Amino acid sequence: MLNIPAALRKKLDEKCFIANVEIAKKLVSAIDGTVKYLYRLYDGEYIESVLMKYEHGYTVCVSTQVGCRMGCKFCASGLNGLTRNLLASEILAQIIMAGKDNGIRVSNVVMMGMGEPLDNFENSKRFLNLVSDKNGLGIGLRHISLSTSGVVSGIEELSKLNLPITLSVSLHAPSDEIRNTIMPVNKKWNIKELLDACKRYQKITTRRISFEYALIEGVNDSKECADMLAERLKGIMCHVNLIPANPVKENSFKKPDINNIKKFQSFLAAKGVNATIRRTLGADINASCGQLRKKEGVL
Ligand code: SAH
Ligand code: SF4
Repeated sequence: MLNIPAALRKKLDEKCFIANVEIAKKLVSAIDGTVKYLYRLYDGEYIESVLMKYEHGYTVCVSTQVGCRMGCKFCASGLNGLTRNLLASEILAQIIMAGKDNGIRVSNVVMMGMGEPLDNFENSKRFLNLVSDKNGLGIGLRHISLSTSGVVSGIEELSKLNLPITLSVSLHAPSDEIRNTIMPVNKKWNIKELLDACKRYQKITTRRISFEYALIEGVNDSKECADMLAERLKGIMCHVNLIPANPVKENSFKKPDINNIKKFQSFLAAKGVNATIRRTLGADINASCGQLRKKEGVL
């Protein structure tokens, strides 16, 4: 930046660090054009990130951590625990790079890649400021979703910011009995504590909450589960996203048959719960929900 005084350059050099990402590998889905990137970070770590094309524009699914320490049993991102948090600039760089590489403008962002955004709260918050600022990327907060596995302390912090983003909560089970077996975070904050936090969040922000529910055959896909789920969501203005469980080679979880997924949806509808089945994108390049990893060589 030769257009600013040397003294200021020196000061910036001492105080600031903008981390970039480098494309280490790139895979394009032959089915739907979804692009998965493996990015190399400044310290030699790796993360993955996905660019998806929808009718309404381009969406980038960003990672917020290298790895994840939440240990959900069905997910590939946390298999080797957490290596480190991403800096706000590293989260931002995933969007800038995907835009540049494809010569497009990214209109939507989902914080649904590798990592738990509320376990990296300060950088996620900073990222939300930068991505939405008109001098930043100018992507409106209404076009951004943040997904959490249920970090209640983070939901409380986030509600204080009162941002118009969409909060997605990965519920995946209607009872503590089932949730405890697949999501260790439930032992710290159980479903009641989580849903109470969602209610408080909604009272402050007045935003509809999205609940993610990954359907796993024989684990959480029964009619009883659908009925229990509908019961628990009473009093929350929400939408349920049903995600057929995506394959991860290290575990044996399977998605239910599509007819059973549709049945589950109709059981919810019968109880007045709005649910959609999430379209699987990038299935041929392991770019679907829960399939992102931190290692080179697995692409
Ligand atoms: N850590 C955050 C955001 C990233 S994961 C969270 O857990 O919410 C994005 C979504 O994919 C979450 O709802 C997550 O539970 C889900 N997911 C993880 N593994 C999956 C799998 N194998 N199949 C389908 N969905 C999965
Ligand atoms: Fe982490 Fe989310 Fe994967 Fe759970 S589902 S291990 S919180 S990335």
